[in-house]
Amino acid sequence: MTELTNLYRLAEQQPTPPLDSNGSETPHSIDAGQHNHGPQEPPFVWALSRERGHPSVIAEYCQQAIENGHEECIWLCMKRGRRFIVKDLPLKTDGKSIGLYDIRKQCSWWKRHSLYSVLGVKEILVSSLHLKSRQEIRAVPMEFDYPSLTAYLNKSIEATLEQDMEPLECGVTVKGESHGDGIECANTAYDILNQGYCKAHHLRKLELQRDEIKWLPSMLEFYWQNGIAEEGRKFLGITGFITSYDALRFNEYLDAANPYGKMVRAFMLIEGWHVRYLLLLIAAGLFCSICTIAVSTAVSHNFETGLTAGSYACGLATALIAVFTFLSAVL
Ligand SMILES: [Zn+2]
Repeated sequence: MTELTNLYRLAEQQPTPPLDSNGSETPHSIDAGQHNHGPQEPPFVWALSRERGHPSVIAEYCQQAIENGHEECIWLCMKRGRRFIVKDLPLKTDGKSIGLYDIRKQCSWWKRHSLYSVLGVKEILVSSLHLKSRQEIRAVPMEFDYPSLTAYLNKSIEATLEQDMEPLECGVTVKGESHGDGIECANTAYDILNQGYCKAHHLRKLELQRDEIKWLPSMLEFYWQNGIAEEGRKFLGITGFITSYDALRFNEYLDAANPYGKMVRAFMLIEGWHVRYLLLLIAAGLFCSICTIAVSTAVSHNFETGLTAGSYACGLATALIAVFTFLSAVL
């Protein structure tokens, strides 16, 4: 699973890369949030040894978030009129689960209560972040290109299969274990940096990545539907959907060379009609009308008077629901 993030470097990498066996970092923005999860070195060592690039356009915004005690966030992208804006959803340090309700809280008051509002999310990439005001960051969204990722992996798998390999060596035990990295074995090959890697390990990693790509949309949907708790947070971290504010303060390596700045993984909010709420409102309106008929009849001892009051109540409820639905559609 940890290698999944390596995939998105594909555009910059050579066609048949041995994705480095110890998972060491190749500089690219997509790993922006990953440094805290890296198994190689504790974060403070990383911070000391790290050479910073140019401050990013959202450096000040991220600094503010860090001063407010936040470390990591999930980025949400939403359409407002003809523009796309992104908002950060800081991760709570108390480990509480995050769900669609938290996403709705990021929207405006009206969007939170409107009948036409957030129904779910979809994974995307955003780039060209720019700060419009203190609270508004605009960005350009791009869809995840799953077919290209799969095609790239297939190509890499084919290239690895074409190499000579000892099929009976470097297998996996029944417990899923294999020989360690960095040792000479029957399938050792050398990459362009002259670093040794095991071809059998490499092939398995590529196949695993292809599976992970296949599962990614369903897994993300599963976690969002069930609320993102500890396990979900781990998954989002590994797949690069959690970014650290600290890393976002700087454009480094390829991002610094890219005129459009950072590319960040985010979730696009998908809006739609809340039909259930609408039906509940209609049911509540009818219930109120029936209650009005009953009360008016009991008070005036006249069924016709009760019926007249009830029909007014029903008309009023219908008009209110119609206005609310209209406003939901246009705002
Ligand atoms: Zn081996």
